[in-house]
Amino acid sequence: MDHFAFLLPVILCAFGLTFLFVGRHEPRSAPWWGVGYLSAALGFIMPILPETIPGLFRSVVADTLFLLALSFYGQGLLAQFRRHLPVWPRALLVVTGMLASVVSTFILENPTLALAANDLVTSLCFVVPAFAVMRHARGAAERLLVAIVFLLVADSLVRNIVMTVLNRNPSDFETFLLSPYAFLMQTTSTVIGILLALAALGCVTLEVIDRYKDVAERDPLTGLLNRRGFDRLSGQKTIAGAVIVCDIDHFKRVNDRYGHAAGDAVIAELARILALEQAQGAVLARFGGEEFVLFLPGIALHTALPVAHAMHARIGSADWSRIGVGAVTASFGVAASRGGDLGIYDVMARADRALYAAKTAGRNRVFTEGERPAELRAAAARAVA
Ligand code: GH3
Ligand code: MG
Ligand code: MG
Repeated sequence: MDHFAFLLPVILCAFGLTFLFVGRHEPRSAPWWGVGYLSAALGFIMPILPETIPGLFRSVVADTLFLLALSFYGQGLLAQFRRHLPVWPRALLVVTGMLASVVSTFILENPTLALAANDLVTSLCFVVPAFAVMRHARGAAERLLVAIVFLLVADSLVRNIVMTVLNRNPSDFETFLLSPYAFLMQTTSTVIGILLALAALGCVTLEVIDRYKDVAERDPLTGLLNRRGFDRLSGQKTIAGAVIVCDIDHFKRVNDRYGHAAGDAVIAELARILALEQAQGAVLARFGGEEFVLFLPGIALHTALPVAHAMHARIGSADWSRIGVGAVTASFGVAASRGGDLGIYDVMARADRALYAAKTAGRNRVFTEGERPAELRAAAARAVA
């Protein structure tokens, strides 16, 4: 019991500081968990403070700190799940809880009532946000987090009801510390508190990873996937399918004539236009500069070709003066997977050759693999003759 009493604040404090440290990278929920755990740590320090500090005073301060801790956890939950609840009803609840603690401890001198009131209000401060977020839990970590929140609230309520029914509640703070209630409270709080911290830390960490993964795999100018993102996503799919590559025609001229910023606007607008044509499961990426790649898993060449033509037509009919430049055109190369292909880059290489052929044939057109510009065909015919 004594060791417990000393260990718990240290563990909770370590969690609190960890959350605050993580919170420097993840600005939303981590700081709330951090201050919550620090409040709880301080709350568990109260029983082990020297007895020269009056027990009743420590009791009320501990009640208040737990109340604050669970309110902060509630706020952490809401932030984690991006939910909003008006703050003032819960702030009012916290103030009510504090008053109830002061009145029942100092005026009514009724520890049973103090415990019941505190546990009830504290649970409410946590359970209301928990209900608000539970439908929005995604993935194992978030579901586990919500489950542990309900476990914590259930623990607190069941313990309180059982102890009250059994009439085992202590009569003052000193006997409280030696009571089965305090022992039970510290045991379950330790276990559930650690589980809660680990689950919340897991959620926060996964979110940081997801965010940086997204940043690493997306092109900031167009919001499309970059090559790294394309590789990961297309790698998760079958290599059977079609690839469309698109490259803006004479883009250097756009930059030279209208400036680099206008060039950027053209790239962003073209990305938006290409994204309009997306088929299900398609992976669209910007492959550096003014070149785009669309992978259509499970799609045959004859189905991919109309997609490329639709993209080409959209670019042709777009109002480019809206972004302050003259007409923009692009060339397309289309290819589909074959039996001997080892990966998506084999298909892409053929699509690239088709694109090159489209450029050679005069740009502003869609070419499929194997299709060659008229001059090449003519030259080939002459060579044969
Ligand atoms: P082609 O019709 O043969 O494709 O001619 P092109 O001028 O488009 O040729 P190329 O692909 O060689 O030129 C691409 C140019 O795109 C070169 C580079 O200065 C410019 N560029 C690459 N990335 C960006 C970018 O992010 N913003 C802007 N504004 N320009 C870019
Ligand atoms: Mg180009
Ligand atoms: Mg290019």
